[in-house]
Amino acid sequence: SVVEISVISLFPEMFAAVRDYGVTGRAVQNGLLSITCCNPRDFTTDRHQTVDDRPYGGGPGMVMKTEPLQQAIALAKASVAPGATVIYLSPQGRPLTQAGLAELAAKPSLILLAGRYEGVDERLIDSEVDEEWSIGDYVLSGGELAAMVMIDGLSRLLPGVLGHHLSAEQDSFAEGLLDCPHYTRPEHYRDMAVPDVLLSGNHEAIRRWRLKQSLGRTWLRRRDLLEKVELGDEQNKLLAE
Ligand code: SAM
Repeated sequence: SVVEISVISLFPEMFAAVRDYGVTGRAVQNGLLSITCCNPRDFTTDRHQTVDDRPYGGGPGMVMKTEPLQQAIALAKASVAPGATVIYLSPQGRPLTQAGLAELAAKPSLILLAGRYEGVDERLIDSEVDEEWSIGDYVLSGGELAAMVMIDGLSRLLPGVLGHHLSAEQDSFAEGLLDCPHYTRPEHYRDMAVPDVLLSGNHEAIRRWRLKQSLGRTWLRRRDLLEKVELGDEQNKLLAE
């Protein structure tokens, strides 16, 4: 499956970060993901190419105007697969999780609206936006980084994007737990050795050790996750040990 993404942003150059590098860059190159940008500034008609204006009711900051955004969204819709979900990245949106990324990765096309200033005119959200998503309970100066977080996270869930198809399944949160620790050569670093079991070649023992580590870490660091996850018999036994 291919996901076609069009981003509405005043700073389209920023998206080189996902288009040109690493896993997401390769996904683009291999045709599994497409990322295009529409700049609302291209849809202004005045000499100063104004995309923002003062807020009604007064107060600090500026608000993104409806017209240029509406036209940029219309062009974006025409450039991706039909039925695109229009998403506004916003601190007031649904908190993004691994499960949320899986939902988004299953859609054929997305339009991601990155806000700036104090945000966008509420009427544009009411009339054009299907879903609002937040990447966390903190405020960024723009939606671009949030959109890139979403693009990066969902692209590694697309079939064929990661070199090893099990990689994403073993990451933190995939099973509702944190990932186990990882080691590579050398066998001794400073005064620390690689855990014996990982050198044993006993695949069953390694699997059990990793599962136990995942459970232990999740219990120590994120007990809130353990309360949400449905543990199997083996997991409950390891946790009790
Ligand atoms: N006044 C807005 C509020 O308090 O809800 C915040 C505006 S913020 C300075 C500018 C833009 O950054 C927003 O329009 C949004 O697109 C983006 N943004 C900021 N924090 C975000 C977050 N946690 N998740 C997603 N997008 C965020």
